[in-house]
Order: sequence, then structure tokens, then C-alpha cells
Amino acid sequence: MMDKFGIVDASNLDPNFKYAISNQLGGENIKRCFQCGTCVASCPIWEIDERFNPRKIIRMALLGMREEVLSSDFIWLCSKCYACYERCPQDVKITELMGAIASIAEREGKEGNVVIKSKKPIFDKAFTNSIRKYGRNFEMKTIINGVLATKGIKGLLSYTSDGFTILKKGKLGLRPEKVKEMSQIEGIFKALEEK
Ligand code: SF4
Ligand code: SF4
Repeated sequence: MMDKFGIVDASNLDPNFKYAISNQLGGENIKRCFQCGTCVASCPIWEIDERFNPRKIIRMALLGMREEVLSSDFIWLCSKCYACYERCPQDVKITELMGAIASIAEREGKEGNVVIKSKKPIFDKAFTNSIRKYGRNFEMKTIINGVLATKGIKGLLSYTSDGFTILKKGKLGLRPEKVKEMSQIEGIFKALEEK
């Protein structure tokens, strides 16, 4: 835990947190980080919002600040651009590491151990469900499910006029297009679940 002055209470640190991450698919190389900052200098999200700092998140995780990292909004902001992944001199594979930390957060969130404040995982889930069902993103359904889950029916209705404009321009399909190779899509999800 951190107090209002940003001072870390060492008695609340979890020294096993880094091992939990390195045991997660994508998190294997976290302990290689030597805090050079190349990832931060490459990160487009950091350019927009300095609170999103991959080096800092990795440092906090290595220190054992489990609750702060897992409940942080920032782990959901990574755009998966792979700029840091390409440039990291220690091959930390940060893009995948962020995914690994987010997976732990989702699991812990479901168990009630951390509170996830970000709405991003709700949209991620709606997107994943669409891929699983149709093999591609059925945007209309993803948007409706995401907005319903985060803003309720009133929130959804507030987008009615924008929705019609987008539909008129043909930017959204009303029906899903299912790919032919659904067995391959199911195979990918099955392999991921086994990992
Ligand atoms: S670029 Fe790699 S080694 Fe450098 S701070 Fe980022 S993760 Fe750590
Ligand atoms: S992959 Fe994520 S953390 Fe890395 S540079 Fe891109 S947005 Fe930043």
C-alpha cells in the first residue's frame, strides 16, 4: 500500500507477485527488466497520459505492490502497439507482459480480491465473445453489449442519433458475417484455455 505522500508500506508488499506474473503466459521475462526506460520513451499512450508508465508498472510489480498494480486503470490502457516490445534491450516482451498482468487482474477481480475500476475489460470481453461466436468482430453487437454493460439502457439510447448516422454511412453491418473456418477459431480458444 502507498500512503497519500506516495510512500510505500513495505510490510504490505507481496514478494511472490513477480513469480505469479512470470508463471503466467506472456509474463515470463518480467525479472529481466533493469529499468532503462526505453519502453516509456517508445510508448504512445505515455505521450498522451504520463500516468501510464510501463516501466513504473513493472517496477511496482517487481516490488510486490500486488493490489496497486492489479487494481490500476493503467494495465488496461496498453494499445498493444508493440513499440516497446521491439525496443526493450532485455526482451521483457512488455506488450505480452501487460496482457499477463491483466489476466491475473481479471481472475482476482472475479474472486473478489481486487476491484477493477476500468471499463476496458468489459469491452474486451464483448469483443472476444464476438470472435468466438462469429470468427470476427460483429461490431454492432460488441458496441451494444459493451455500452449496455457499462452505461445501461439509458446510456445506450443516448447514442441513438450517432448510431443512425453511422448506419446510414454503411460503417456498421446489421448482420454478423460468420467465417467458414469456425473449427480453427474454436481450436485457438481451446488451446488458449489449456494454457
Ligand atoms: S525497456 Fe525493457 S529493460 Fe528497459 S525499463 Fe522497459 S521493460 Fe525494463
Ligand atoms: S505495447 Fe503498450 S506499453 Fe508498449 S509501447 Fe505500446 S502502448 Fe506502450
